[in-house]
Amino acid sequence: MKSMIIGVLSMTALCVSAAIAHAVLFGPNTTGGSAAGIATPRNMKDLYMKHERATINNEADKAQPQGPVYSKAAHDITPLSKERIEELAKKLTPEERRVILASGTEPAFCGNLVDNKKQGTYICRLCSLPLFESKAKFDSGTGWPSFFSPVDTAHIVGLRDTSHGMVRVEILCARCSGHLGHVFDDAPRTPTGLRFCVNSASLEFIEDGQKMPDAALPVATETAYFAAGCFWGVEDRLQRFPGVIDAVSGYMGGKTKEPTYEQICRGDTDHAETVKVVFDPKRTNYDQLLGFFFRLHDPTQLNRQGPDVGTQYRSHIFTVGETQKAAAEKFIKEQQGNPRFKGRPVVTRVSPAGGDVKFYAAEEYHQDYHIKNGGHCAMPEP
Ligand SMILES: [Zn+2]
Repeated sequence: MKSMIIGVLSMTALCVSAAIAHAVLFGPNTTGGSAAGIATPRNMKDLYMKHERATINNEADKAQPQGPVYSKAAHDITPLSKERIEELAKKLTPEERRVILASGTEPAFCGNLVDNKKQGTYICRLCSLPLFESKAKFDSGTGWPSFFSPVDTAHIVGLRDTSHGMVRVEILCARCSGHLGHVFDDAPRTPTGLRFCVNSASLEFIEDGQKMPDAALPVATETAYFAAGCFWGVEDRLQRFPGVIDAVSGYMGGKTKEPTYEQICRGDTDHAETVKVVFDPKRTNYDQLLGFFFRLHDPTQLNRQGPDVGTQYRSHIFTVGETQKAAAEKFIKEQQGNPRFKGRPVVTRVSPAGGDVKFYAAEEYHQDYHIKNGGHCAMPEP
């Protein structure tokens, strides 16, 4: 789910290669709704280095995208058209064109950002997508700006590069396919072990406090919270819903601060396994999400979902603002007469989020659980 589907037919040759590389790195997606997102240091090395063993043979990689592609950081990373890339490239200097459009390399220690120690964000020189932050920059001594982690793993794609008698991983901007440099796994003292070695010519630095270009800003989002039983399956399904940018498993509605899964399972924290949903209100809306939430579970079961028994599995909506509260209450009232429930009352609770009702993200191993571990939860078919 946290990967992307790529439409190769309508893209430029440059985009095609980048897109295939992206599909190889992150796997096919069936929705086009979200990209691979932010990896942990533990798995980032696998994410960027595994592609050499991958093969490009998945028909799904060639399917048409079904709308914009987002990163978890809520940036629109839909590959740009050839025409748009050519338009953007008019601003480049000859040296920038050589590096960005022709996979060139600037001489070591010559780029203007090698020794930049200011705090800020490094965005793509061509399309302005945020790529790296100063907090991930380190002095590698190689003569090129070096970073141990991107802003979002979905903002960078990797390509197998066998030029100059070496096997390397070339890195490109995910949105415009502009050449950035290469990534190496030779930085053991950094949190990820990786060194993203980038040409200064491929980057533009925006110091903290300076205005970001519009193209460097994330899309406007809204947030919703739904508890519908075991969060593994609920997160998985919601992440695939068109217009959902990110779904995160967590705990909400209880009395314990910063709860752990062990505490939740003891049943005395009163938290519900809850999924935080960040969505694009231009592509979906709260009413559609409410409808999907009800199709994901049986809202007439009190403090359980099938074999999962306990208050942590209760049906619960945590609303953000008065509009969501009114919409959720109206929806539940309407659903009381739904023939699907055969006269059983809907027991879904509605509580305002905010104040002491905080969302606590679950431990890392719970996130993207079915993607990492396979399998699926027994849930009603939506
Ligand atoms: Zn770009």
